[in-house]
Amino acid sequence: MTNWTLAARAAKMNPSVIREILKVTEKPGIVSLAGGLPSPKTFPVEAFARACEKVLAEDAQGALQYAASEGYGPLREEIAAMLPWQVDPAQVLVTTGSQQGLDLLAKVLIDPGSKVLVETPTYLGALQAFAPMEPEVVSVVSDEAGARADDLRAKADGARFVYLLPNFQNPTGRSMTEERRAAVSAIAARAGLPIIEDNPYGDLWFDDAPAQALTARNPEGCIYLGSFSKVLAPGLRLGFLVAPKAIFPKLLQAKQAADLHTPGFNQRLVFEVMKDGFLQRHVPTIRALYREQRDVMHAALMREMSGLGVEFNRPTGGMFMWLRLPPALDAVKLLPYAVARNVAFVPGAPFYAGEGDPRTLRLSFVTASAEQINTAVAALAEAVREQVARS
Ligand code: PMP
Repeated sequence: MTNWTLAARAAKMNPSVIREILKVTEKPGIVSLAGGLPSPKTFPVEAFARACEKVLAEDAQGALQYAASEGYGPLREEIAAMLPWQVDPAQVLVTTGSQQGLDLLAKVLIDPGSKVLVETPTYLGALQAFAPMEPEVVSVVSDEAGARADDLRAKADGARFVYLLPNFQNPTGRSMTEERRAAVSAIAARAGLPIIEDNPYGDLWFDDAPAQALTARNPEGCIYLGSFSKVLAPGLRLGFLVAPKAIFPKLLQAKQAADLHTPGFNQRLVFEVMKDGFLQRHVPTIRALYREQRDVMHAALMREMSGLGVEFNRPTGGMFMWLRLPPALDAVKLLPYAVARNVAFVPGAPFYAGEGDPRTLRLSFVTASAEQINTAVAALAEAVREQVARS
């Protein structure tokens, strides 16, 4: 018999708790408000069809050959030019989704036992990327404006980095105010604490563009993660990071070991699609759609949850809303009642590095239709009523 002895770090790899939980939601007819998927209506299929043809006609050899680990030069330049602070294209590393950026950062910055600071709650995929490197993940007390500056100051000592999501955070949809950004940025700079700024949702604002990026305030003290998943299509697996020159070579070496390079064909497609200002025309259409969807869900929650003691926010961008059930209710226990009424959501507790708040849950407002959202929120309210009656 073959003896497969696993590395200690393999024990730290867990199946996504959410994926496990969502198995119960796989039934026909269910309206899922659980997924983290962008609306497929926003995928610019025709622009990609034209770009595919052009890339294959003009640069098939380059697109289909092995290529540099840093990424496709013209795309790196385009990314640097698109960011609203001074970025040298040499600091841009094209990644296979920003999820890979998180994985590379974990490998380069975390030793077993390293202290790593995160928001409360935070992006589950980041916790998964960090976990195999065996950090001590410490949650910074957070409120509706994100990580609290006073608690960050108290916990900064000896931390390898703080991981922050300033815009329309996954899972809560909340954003950091200008005041909070200024305070957090000043504290991190004073403490010499590196910031990892993850910003896949920043372009999806509904009213006003977000306040200035943390990285723009102190580029030498931050690594910035960006993604094309929410503004073009996640199936491309195309993201990027911007790193100070001192750390860039190590991230590049980690990238080489991981996958040599991000597919050159996809990089050229995105370059073709981006280069004539397409994103400036396309992204406003996503904002308009998602804003409308947010309004439908918010109105439905106001109507259906009235008097139930359920708290919820009204995010000003992104894809998610965050709910808190009345005391004594538990989102994991609520889920089967909701599924029985054909609606699915994601319980919030797995998004916490420490003990999660069992009363919280995340709803996506972008993939279901307005009609489905209305039906689903009414069904969710019924499920809450049923659980309240039983508890
Ligand atoms: N960061 C956050 C906060 C996310 O929500 C996601 C996608 N769910 C990612 C990173 C990864 O995105 P991608 O790899 O598609 O760029």
